[in-house]
Amino acid sequence: ARELARFAAGHARSASLRERAKASMPRGVPMSWMESLYEYPPVFAETGAGSRFRDVDGHEYLDMYLGDMSGFCGHAPVPVVEAVGRRMAEGNHFLLPGEDAIVVAEHLAERYRLPQWQFTLSATQANTEVIRIARQLTGREVVLMFDGKYHGHGDPTLVVLEGDRTVPELQGLPGSVTGQARLVQFNDVAGLEAALAPRDVALVLTEPVMTNVGIIEPAPGFHAALRELTRAAGTFLALDETHSLVGAYGGMAGEFGLATDFLTVGKAIAAGVPLGAYGMTEEVAARSLPAGGHQLAMGDAFAEIATGGTLFANALAMAAGRAALTEVLTPQAFDRARELGTRMADGVREAVAASSLPWNVAQMGTHAYYGFAPVPARNGAEARVNDDPDLRALMRLWMVNRGVWESGWWLGPTVSVAHDEADVDEYVAKFGELLDELTH
Ligand code: PLP
Repeated sequence: ARELARFAAGHARSASLRERAKASMPRGVPMSWMESLYEYPPVFAETGAGSRFRDVDGHEYLDMYLGDMSGFCGHAPVPVVEAVGRRMAEGNHFLLPGEDAIVVAEHLAERYRLPQWQFTLSATQANTEVIRIARQLTGREVVLMFDGKYHGHGDPTLVVLEGDRTVPELQGLPGSVTGQARLVQFNDVAGLEAALAPRDVALVLTEPVMTNVGIIEPAPGFHAALRELTRAAGTFLALDETHSLVGAYGGMAGEFGLATDFLTVGKAIAAGVPLGAYGMTEEVAARSLPAGGHQLAMGDAFAEIATGGTLFANALAMAAGRAALTEVLTPQAFDRARELGTRMADGVREAVAASSLPWNVAQMGTHAYYGFAPVPARNGAEARVNDDPDLRALMRLWMVNRGVWESGWWLGPTVSVAHDEADVDEYVAKFGELLDELTH
């Protein structure tokens, strides 16, 4: 109550903008779920630079949430600002390819070790298209994912486990989604093998390291089993690096040496300008195109897999992606940010040790997570059992009231390539203060 009162007193302008917005937007926010994201009314944002942003009430926040990883390039990264400005001035959409698209595809091919790329506006759409290609090429419908996953808001992935039943995750979805999806626990090789056994699974869709239920690392041998079992079952493997790409220059699949049939990315690859992408092997790319070439015959069903959109791969997104990938998310930037990630994880670990709380701290390159159990969770079920959403919400609110923006849910703090040592030290100091208050 004390922290909520402090928050309310400091955010009068956000509150009044929201009241005004209620006349034109349900709940007074551009996406109604925003209201339920946090335990207090939404803050209206105004400007951002580097590791910080400001709200309309004049507060400055050290950004450790990065807009759910989209801000990993930092706010207003100069090469992207310039590229986007140039592109807008010279025309931003033609529904035609441009050279930027080639550069981005070539770059992604090298960085993520798959030769052929296609573009969308979001990671959700990249996952949706990958699922369609896998279904078409296998003649199967089921998508297998791991409990605790999030792969965006496409129908086929919006399922969760209720006991051992698969149910729709949200309302407004067709009941058929549950029959077309299967969920198993991460790191459970026997469970995976059993779930693939009916040979009806088109695609296993997973992150190389799970990030939407804390940080869940693959146990030794799990990645190898994933690759072998999917091959043996005639099932495609897709790695969703949308979040985990912040962990290492070549993504976490690169870090662990896991080969894949598809790889999807979004969010940070164009510094938060909408751009999603997916890579494929040569074989998949060749098979995904209909024999006999492209035929447009209005009125007939097209012999094409359902992909594409008018604004997908627009010139503005490709210009932003080119600048972000080649000038901001460089190997040197990753080296530096990963060192800062270690400084942050070590600092958080020391604060936890000093507090004597029986918590664990996990790290994925630039990203860290503190879990309320002595050892990190091995799967979604363990993560949920050990979590305490009320405590997390309180910790987040405490931080927000002291100028640190955090997810406070399943996504722990992340440093962007724009953070520096002082930012990390400020975060760690405040985290230590918070634990002091919690334990005294
Ligand atoms: N994949 C993963 C792993 C994600 O965490 C998310 C979003 O949080 C998505 C895909 C969907 O991204 P978007 O909402 O930008 O489509």
